[in-house]
Amino acid sequence: MQEELDKLKKNLDIIAPILDDPKKAKTNTIKKSIKYIKENSILLPLIGIEPNEYLEKLNYAEAKAIYIHIPFCKSLCTYCDFSKMYYFQKYSKKYFDSLSKEFNQRYNGEEIETVYIGGGTPSILKPEELKKLFKITSKINLKKDYEFTIECNIDDIVEEKVKIFKENKINRVSIGIQTFNKKTLKKMNRSHDYNEVLEKIELLKKYEIDNINIDLIYAFPGTTIEDLKKDLNLFFSLNVKHISTYSLMIEPHTMLYINKVKNIKEELDCEMYNLICLEMKKHGYNHYEVSNFSIPGYESKHNLTYWNNEEYYGFGLSASGYIDNIRYTNTLSMDKYLANEFDGVKEELTLKDKMVYELILGMRKINGINILNFNSKYNRSLLENEIIKELVKKGNLIVDENYLKIPYNKIYVQNEILEELLDYE
Ligand code: SF4
Repeated sequence: MQEELDKLKKNLDIIAPILDDPKKAKTNTIKKSIKYIKENSILLPLIGIEPNEYLEKLNYAEAKAIYIHIPFCKSLCTYCDFSKMYYFQKYSKKYFDSLSKEFNQRYNGEEIETVYIGGGTPSILKPEELKKLFKITSKINLKKDYEFTIECNIDDIVEEKVKIFKENKINRVSIGIQTFNKKTLKKMNRSHDYNEVLEKIELLKKYEIDNINIDLIYAFPGTTIEDLKKDLNLFFSLNVKHISTYSLMIEPHTMLYINKVKNIKEELDCEMYNLICLEMKKHGYNHYEVSNFSIPGYESKHNLTYWNNEEYYGFGLSASGYIDNIRYTNTLSMDKYLANEFDGVKEELTLKDKMVYELILGMRKINGINILNFNSKYNRSLLENEIIKELVKKGNLIVDENYLKIPYNKIYVQNEILEELLDYE
């Protein structure tokens, strides 16, 4: 017992300098000490400390989510500007060694609510590579009702891999379907058909993974309202819990851009968006974020971490994270990543930056921002701010009970409204 008390005292000494401002608790040593003290709080009264009061002081913002990037793809889609590369075993072999190093160096053992493995195409990994990946994730201290998502392409959803997912705590799968329109799929450099998708979804459900998201891309050049209606009907018939929608934007460095393909007209894009919102509602999907719809209770906990401006780790090549008040993106160079030089760009946030992020990200949610939370988090009175007052006066923001939000009929033009929030301070 004496040994345990000595160890506790040693950890208390380590954190003593940061007690007045626990948000300064940045180093791994301090974080580990805080974790130790929290885990052994039962011993605190034995050295004359009142546990509740003391633990309160240590309750600074902790990361709740982890994103892991797997940058490999089998083929490259013509519209894609994500960080990805062709799958080569020569890279994937070393990739997991570096990923593991980065994870061990940076993760401090916080209790994590959501994990998201994205890409690229994580499902492309061979079973033995998936096992290496899950060996890393097995070290995550997962909260009891965690959400653990992996992105999949339809071809990769095979029994052997689904079993590995299930054995390794995956409870949500996000599938990039995009469309069922054969012509558009060809122009995207993708392929699958409806029956195949249905079969793969059944396979996931057989393994009790029924929290499934499917991605829909609309406004692809050349598509019509009728095409979108057909896609929506097929999407609804799949009976999944969550649908993410993306209006296609032709970004530089994509094949579409290089081939000089042009975006569709804004009026048509707007008409398509309105149709999606209407149809989703009719089919029981709750519109909870600008582009995301779910059966109530199946909102993406992981993405809500981003929209709630909460801290999260990003591991892997080009992964972004937000830890200890720093937003960062890892290196984009595979050579550097494999040489364990993980750092890319970093941005340390000022108080103004944090509030602007909170507003811009939070306004993506249809319910908007909880005013009391904002006020207590930043010691401000949100509604007293001149910019906010002006936006409310113009009807571009509305107060609905405890929330400040963009009126539903203005969500399509939210970017113009959000621009004005950039000057908030
Ligand atoms: S859209 Fe997905 S599958 Fe297609 S190239 Fe981009 S990351 Fe790879």
